[in-house]
Amino acid sequence: LAACGGGGAGSGDETTEPAGNGGDTAAAGDQTIGVAMPTQTSERWIADGDAVKSQLEEAGYTVDLQFANDDIPTQTQQIDQMILQEVDLLIIASIDGTALTSQLDAAGAAGIPVIAYDRLINGSENVDFYVTFDNYNVGVQQATSLLVGLGLLNADGSENPDAPEGPFNIELFAGSPDDNNAGFFFNGAMDTLKPFIDAGTLVVPSGQTDFDTVATLRWSQEAAQRRMEDLLTSTYTGGEELHGVLSPFDGISRGIITALQGAGYGPTLEEGLPVVSGQDAEIASVTLIDQGVQFATIFKDTRKLATESVRAAQAFLEGNEPEANDTDTYDNGVKVVPSYLLESDIVYADNITELLVDTGYYTAEQVEQGS
Ligand code: BGC
Repeated sequence: LAACGGGGAGSGDETTEPAGNGGDTAAAGDQTIGVAMPTQTSERWIADGDAVKSQLEEAGYTVDLQFANDDIPTQTQQIDQMILQEVDLLIIASIDGTALTSQLDAAGAAGIPVIAYDRLINGSENVDFYVTFDNYNVGVQQATSLLVGLGLLNADGSENPDAPEGPFNIELFAGSPDDNNAGFFFNGAMDTLKPFIDAGTLVVPSGQTDFDTVATLRWSQEAAQRRMEDLLTSTYTGGEELHGVLSPFDGISRGIITALQGAGYGPTLEEGLPVVSGQDAEIASVTLIDQGVQFATIFKDTRKLATESVRAAQAFLEGNEPEANDTDTYDNGVKVVPSYLLESDIVYADNITELLVDTGYYTAEQVEQGS
C-alpha cells in the first residue's frame, strides 16, 4: 500500500470511504500545497520546483510554487502568504535554515504540516519531516572524487597501491554557512581528506582549513571566483603549483575554474588545470566534465527527491506518518526530525552517459552543448 505513489488509488481512509479512485482524487483535488524554493539562479532548484509541482499535480493536488531569488525576506513573505491562503501542507527548501521560525510557528498553530525539502529548517518544533540526500556522504563523495583525480585513489574509490607520493597542494571551499547541508558536506569531505593531510600527502598551502574561513555565502559563484583569485595571489605567486580544489557546488566550481584559467592554469585537466570537484550535475558543469575541464560532480537525482516529498505529503494529508529511513541524524536544535535520505552518485567523464543520459536526466545534445 505504501508504495502506491501516483494518484493514491486504493490508499484512502478505509474507515470513511470505500476504496476507489474517485474519493481519493476528489480529496486531493481540494487540497493545495505550498512549495517554497530558494532561487532560480541555479538550475538544480528550477528542476526541483518543476519535478515537485508536476508530480504533486499528477497526484491531484493544486500547487502554489514560489521561488525567492535567494532573498530571505522574499521567502518569509511567500510562506506567510501561503499560510494566509490556508494551504494544506508546506514543502520548503529554505534559504537560511534558521530564518523561518515565526513562519513555522504560524504553520504549526494552523495545523499545516511542514516538510523540509533538501535543506533542514533549524530551531523549530514544527518541522514534521525532512526529505534529502545523505548529505555527509555527498561530502565523502566530493573528497573521493578529488582523491581519484589526484591519483591517490582508484576510480572505484579503492586504495591505489601505486599512488604517487605527492605532496599535492589543495585548497578548500565550503557552501553557505546558513545552509545546514554545507557543514555536512564539509565534514564528510574533511573526514575523507584528513588521513592524507595528516600523512603529508595533501597540503593546504593557504592554511585555510576551517569551515567559517572557507565557507561561501549563498553558494555564490562570483564570491568563489574572487576567493580563488585572492588565494592564487596570496599563496601561489612564488612558483608553488596548485593541484586540486575541493568545491561543494558546480556554480562554485565554475567560479574557481574561471579564476584558475585566468591565472594561466589549463585550460584543461590534461594541460595542467587542477582537479576540481562539484555537486548537482548542472548541465554547464557536466559539459565541462565531458570536455576534460571540471573533473567531477555529484549527481543528486532531483526527480527522486520530488517523488519522496510527494509521498511524504500524501501520507500527511491522508492522516498518516511518512516512512522515514533515518531518525537520528538531523537534529534541528529543538528536535530530531524524521528523515528520508536518498543516495547520490559521483559523475566522471566516463560515466556521464550511464548516469545522466541513459536515465533521461539530460539528452546527449544537452551534454554536448552545455545548456
Ligand atoms: C544543496 C546542494 C546545492 C546547494 C546550492 C544545497 O543545500 O543540497 O545540492 O548545491 O544547496 O544550491
